[in-house]
Amino acid sequence: MTVAVIGGGVIGLNAAWSLRRRGEDVTVIERGAIGHSASAVNAGWITPSLSTPLASPGILRLGLEHAFDPNGAVSIRPRLETDWIRWLWKFARAARPATYEKGVRALLHLNAHTLDLFDELHDDGVDFEMHSAGLLALAKSTDGLQWFTQLFDQLIPMGFTGTIEYLSGNEARQRDNAIGGGVHAAAHTSIDRHVHPESLLYGLHKKITEMGVTVHEHTAVEAIIPTSRKWTIHTPDTAIRADQVIVALGAATNTLLAPLGARLPIVGAKGYSVDLHNSGTPPRHSLYLMEPKLGVSPYHDSLRIAGAFELPSADETTIPTRRIRTLIEQTRPYLSERAPHTAADLHPTHAGLRPATPDSLPFIGPVPDHTGLYVAAGHGMLGVTLAPATAEGLAEMLTTHRIPEPMLPFQLAGRI
Ligand SMILES: Cc1cc2nc3c(=O)[nH]c(=O)nc-3n(C[C@H](O)[C@H](O)[C@H](O)COP(=O)(O)OP(=O)(O)OC[C@H]3O[C@@H](n4cnc5c(N)ncnc54)[C@H](O)[C@@H]3O)c2cc1C
Repeated sequence: MTVAVIGGGVIGLNAAWSLRRRGEDVTVIERGAIGHSASAVNAGWITPSLSTPLASPGILRLGLEHAFDPNGAVSIRPRLETDWIRWLWKFARAARPATYEKGVRALLHLNAHTLDLFDELHDDGVDFEMHSAGLLALAKSTDGLQWFTQLFDQLIPMGFTGTIEYLSGNEARQRDNAIGGGVHAAAHTSIDRHVHPESLLYGLHKKITEMGVTVHEHTAVEAIIPTSRKWTIHTPDTAIRADQVIVALGAATNTLLAPLGARLPIVGAKGYSVDLHNSGTPPRHSLYLMEPKLGVSPYHDSLRIAGAFELPSADETTIPTRRIRTLIEQTRPYLSERAPHTAADLHPTHAGLRPATPDSLPFIGPVPDHTGLYVAAGHGMLGVTLAPATAEGLAEMLTTHRIPEPMLPFQLAGRI
């Protein structure tokens, strides 16, 4: 069977790996170079303990509080476009307690083998940087930690096997000497990991190429057309034929699906990151700074600060200096010596669009009324975490034409 995967982000590349391992003939088509999408600019967290929907009871209040704050962690901005109003309405409905709880369970099941799947990538020779010291959630007060610990406590009765350890500020500093004096309460989850996002993309790209997958970079797909039991994928220079197609375009997914009559409720939620080099002792853990809701990830040669969730955003490229300065400023109380003090310490800044769905669940499955066409998009804040499980579920669907039980909540029917 020939499969074309359109989109070379973390979802598309993982899907290509899973399918090729099952012996399928796979081609990946990416409009840019591998390693330049949202999948490259994120914090790289693999966090089963944070895999809960954003649409949760109380979120709208938080979003609206920050609506006009240009530095708010979650900004939900008023706009009059119909698609956006419909999305927001669905988001408000998804935040109801029963829907939220269903979403938590769905993500928990999807994540059941996430860590094993990352280990499998590693064991199969995909060369990428992964850290397993766990996540430290840091707060200026015990109250500040409450939101995180509540999330964790909800997961346990549902069968989550992660553990949490509560620490005072001093205990956190003993555990990780990069933690600053402003921290008075902390929690350590040992189940969570983080990867260097670009290394994961480059590692997958190299591995799948060795396995015989053809990867077309700098090739924007313009249309996908069903033709005599196959699909034809049109690019500016060529037409590629495939038995089955996976559309994995993140926030851009509707550009190819909408002309086929399938318009998914996916909007781009913009986030930013900045990489710092050579400034003090790096933390050993990934850090979740509770009050500003920022992520900090230490890598072998840099420290990445990532945050902001601006809804909606169509513009992927603008990076306001003010935003980046604020990200860095907000880390200071939490880090003992790591914050940069001169402009020379500022290294690459990035922005990316998270593909956000109203219920925070991705779409993973066949597109109704289009035999052989699948979508894998809408992973929001969890694309790295969920990528291997998404890929395995998809590979099973494409090869067996069955929908595995854990993948049922992610189908399109009833959600578009
Ligand atoms: C600041 C920030 C921090 C984040 N932190 C985390 C984290 O710590 N952990 C986590 O799990 N998730 C995190 N995320 C979310 C995660 O990055 C996304 O969920 C994930 O990258 C989505 O992957 P994707 O492959 O679906 O989409 P993308 O990464 O957007 O990939 C889609 C690809 O499709 C290509 N494409 C688009 N149109 C076409 C076309 N017409 N033809 C061919 N190719 C096309 C694009 O160039 C792109 O490479 C974060 C996101 C941001 C912005």
